[in-house]
Amino acid sequence: MGIRLVNAAGRAGLDVDGRLVDLESSSGGRFGADVMDAIADWDALCDWASGLDADAGDGTIDESTFGPPVTRSQKVFGVGLNYRGHAAEAGLDIPKEPLIFTKFPSCLAGPRADVVLTSERVDYEVELVAVIGRSGRNIDEGRAIDHVAGYCVGQDISDRALQFAGKPPQFSMGKSADTYGPIGPAVVSLDAFDDPNDLPLWCEVSGERLQEDRTNDLIFPVPELVAYLSRYCTLEPGDLIFTGTPAGVGAVRDPRRYLQPGDEITSGIDGIGILQNRCVES
Ligand code: ZN
Repeated sequence: MGIRLVNAAGRAGLDVDGRLVDLESSSGGRFGADVMDAIADWDALCDWASGLDADAGDGTIDESTFGPPVTRSQKVFGVGLNYRGHAAEAGLDIPKEPLIFTKFPSCLAGPRADVVLTSERVDYEVELVAVIGRSGRNIDEGRAIDHVAGYCVGQDISDRALQFAGKPPQFSMGKSADTYGPIGPAVVSLDAFDDPNDLPLWCEVSGERLQEDRTNDLIFPVPELVAYLSRYCTLEPGDLIFTGTPAGVGAVRDPRRYLQPGDEITSGIDGIGILQNRCVES
């Protein structure tokens, strides 16, 4: 059945059938109020949560209070061109190795946060985000999933004007402005899904559905990404992998569809939930 870790008004909690269980108070201090500590102690948290009563919970979940369920990642990786449809719409070849870029962790924002637009060419990218729960280096692909605590929904907001200001393109700044990494609404453990490798994901902007695909279309699935990244970097609990976006981004639509002040971005993955982010002027 799995667990759903949330950041409710700055405190680590579990969403148990729509009721909030505050980790620190419900566990008598066994777990603290910091979501990062909960992720670093993931196996113990899952064990403890499996013993919760069906009617556990201190109150009704209020997602309007939610912050990002991962707050201080050491590393936030992005993956370019990881869906065939997106590579095709960009007019680029299917990559032979994962194309990795970084999002600075300071861009992380909550599932209801406003996105502060930095230019007139800011784009949306709904993505599955893998949350590392167990550290490792040179992780074998066959055991890579053991290092993943769970999944959340992410938006890899991208300032295309900044990204493509020169040649070659520079991804890091264009994808790292404050608020350009909404994640949430929960970190959902993998045992919550019938098939964690085949999840429907979609994105709507102001009610218009612009992206829709399934994660089984990933060119490099999560275990391959974990194995690949850990060849070079020691992965730590709370590290995030934005696994790439499906077709339908604004920069390659005809006509182009960039985010405007007042737009509402709704991003969803079945079994995890949705992000609702309003675009505002800087
Ligand atoms: Zn992306």
